[in-house]
Amino acid sequence: MRVEPASLERPDVAVDPELVKFCGQGSASSLLGNQNVIFIFVDSLTTLWSCSTRRRVEGDCQAAVEWLYDQSQRYGGAVKLNYRVLPEESLAVRVSATVDAKKGCPQDHKLWHDEAASVLVGKQGSLTSLWDTLFSGCLPRQGSSAAVVFLVHLPGSSWAFPFDPSQHEEWQMERANIYSGGGDYDYTYLASQIAHEVLHLFGAIDLRDSAIPSNISPATADAIRQNRLQISIMLQPNNQDLQNYQVDDLTAYLVGWSNRPPAWLP
Ligand SMILES: [Zn+2]
Repeated sequence: MRVEPASLERPDVAVDPELVKFCGQGSASSLLGNQNVIFIFVDSLTTLWSCSTRRRVEGDCQAAVEWLYDQSQRYGGAVKLNYRVLPEESLAVRVSATVDAKKGCPQDHKLWHDEAASVLVGKQGSLTSLWDTLFSGCLPRQGSSAAVVFLVHLPGSSWAFPFDPSQHEEWQMERANIYSGGGDYDYTYLASQIAHEVLHLFGAIDLRDSAIPSNISPATADAIRQNRLQISIMLQPNNQDLQNYQVDDLTAYLVGWSNRPPAWLP
């Protein structure tokens, strides 16, 4: 299923194709106009949400959505993120498939993503059926897209899985896993991590040295290292309160808030 994106016109400016590989792709193609994010709390066999932890993280989701709106306005764009938090009748969706927080490919998470969607819609399905069931006729489909964020109370490094053209179309239903607690990963500032992962789903890339995509040209990578905004949410997302971060000019271009790439790009 392809949800048509909000219109985004970009002037014909040469940009490293590897840099813009995730832009305008999948269901979460540009962060403009009406966009939809579904947050789903998931219990695995080994971890459970409590009332208080869900309430806290639900507040983080709301803070991330509001911050993204404020940031889009700084660039003269406006995104209205319609978001829903699921499940509504219980604390979390219980899945029996293994949730392995160490794995970083979308295929590694298909079983439990599909299981969570199946529980929510009451029949065997996938994220596509979840989207069809939840939003058909409820929210504007035309010019809007969907991003699904799973929240699991596990220690781990969070991941986003934006669509790229080489993938099976199933992955156009873009999703992220946020792991919320425990050990070295007991985030104090989860709202900034949530905003960071949502931006990834709409085309943003990591800006820290070890995570700049390896396929982009050395000249582009050098330019990013020299010009990146030090308070960018895409540089170090989880060390500080959300209000200490901004969306930088490269990220604004990648997610569609600015139609010209930064002048410092080669
Ligand atoms: Zn990242």
